[in-house]
Amino acid sequence: MIKNSSLLFCLLAASQPLYSQKLSKPEKTVVETIQRQMPETEAFLEKVVNINSGTLNKEGVRTVGNLMATEFEKLGFKTEWVSLPDSLNRAGHLVATRQGKKGKKLFLIGHLDTVFEKSLPMEPFTRVNDSTASGQGANDMKGGDVLIIAALKALHQQKLLDDTSITVYFTGDEESSAGGSESRRDFIERAKRCDLALAFEGAQGLHQVTMGRRGASSWTLKVASRTGHSSRVFSDLGYGAIFETARILNEFRRTLSQEQYLTFNPGLIVGGSDVRYDDKTAKAETTGKTNIVAPAAFAKGDLRFISETQKEAARKRMREIVEKSLPLTKASITFEDGIPAMEPSEKNESLRKLVDQVSRDMGLGPVTAGDPGARGAGDVSFVAEYLPCLDGLGASGKGAHSIEETINLKEYPFLIQRTAVLIYRLTR
Ligand SMILES: [Zn+2]
Repeated sequence: MIKNSSLLFCLLAASQPLYSQKLSKPEKTVVETIQRQMPETEAFLEKVVNINSGTLNKEGVRTVGNLMATEFEKLGFKTEWVSLPDSLNRAGHLVATRQGKKGKKLFLIGHLDTVFEKSLPMEPFTRVNDSTASGQGANDMKGGDVLIIAALKALHQQKLLDDTSITVYFTGDEESSAGGSESRRDFIERAKRCDLALAFEGAQGLHQVTMGRRGASSWTLKVASRTGHSSRVFSDLGYGAIFETARILNEFRRTLSQEQYLTFNPGLIVGGSDVRYDDKTAKAETTGKTNIVAPAAFAKGDLRFISETQKEAARKRMREIVEKSLPLTKASITFEDGIPAMEPSEKNESLRKLVDQVSRDMGLGPVTAGDPGARGAGDVSFVAEYLPCLDGLGASGKGAHSIEETINLKEYPFLIQRTAVLIYRLTR
């Protein structure tokens, strides 16, 4: 008798996932639906990854946006395209909405663009093995966008989206936002009408979400100097623009590189006799000769920070360094705001707890807060001061922003399921 009942228990346990006891019936159905739909979810991801949507490739960004808009419309969402002024040279944003009275009003954040501009070689979506696929934006963040769609699709099939209020906002220039807060005015306005925001930038595995993110901005350094025969460098021609640029960058590194949460990265440098830089294509050109003291140099970089205070203090130090020019050189630096910082807060912590509960109920274990310094900036930061926010809910993987970018296909279904259950609970 004892033997038989334990055998029966074992059979039951084997036929049902561990989490089934903690999830409600509709939640279980949603989880199963997502599992069943994984082949089509992956196929859609492959399709959108294989369309180049580098931030400056406006046509590509819109093509990806239109494909996603079609999916949202199938789920009963109204979609619209938010255009930006021509001067910003960006594709604009996709917004999908549905209105209702049930539960909390959600604001879900993604982005359509990637860091991979058309000028880079195309790396198509490739299944490396049964748990990994590579491709441009597979993780950052077409994986996150498709995750949102797959989660909503499973909820819609069970009619669980009926009467809910959800705004999905996919920006078209997250990786290189133009015009700072200007290009996010509509984004911020719509978020303010919601109760909380969930952002789907890359997840750090199954056990971490993001309560705080650093902000990002950029700087441009221009250096000019006397020029002439190289034999006169260090004497009556002074030091030249290239040595002056080297001095400045090295001083930045020497004096500011050890501060917690602060980083700055020179991403481009040119120097020589004639320096040109095209902002639209991020391309620079120069000519120079070894026997001529270089009269011009140019460098561009970013600056990441955890608070406005830290940002302003760093800029002040950088200006001071720039002003101490070497003889017969002249340098100037300008700063451009990008994305504000999202400082960790209590209201964000309450959202983390909800995700943690869902994860435990699914049998996936706890979810803790990741290190804010470990992440770059994200669109969520534009609205973090107005409503509770959580980020890092997207696809997991490795090597974002590099040609080694991959998505973890083993964890992907769990992350979609976790989001679907979370949305379900928030909208009851
Ligand atoms: Zn991203």
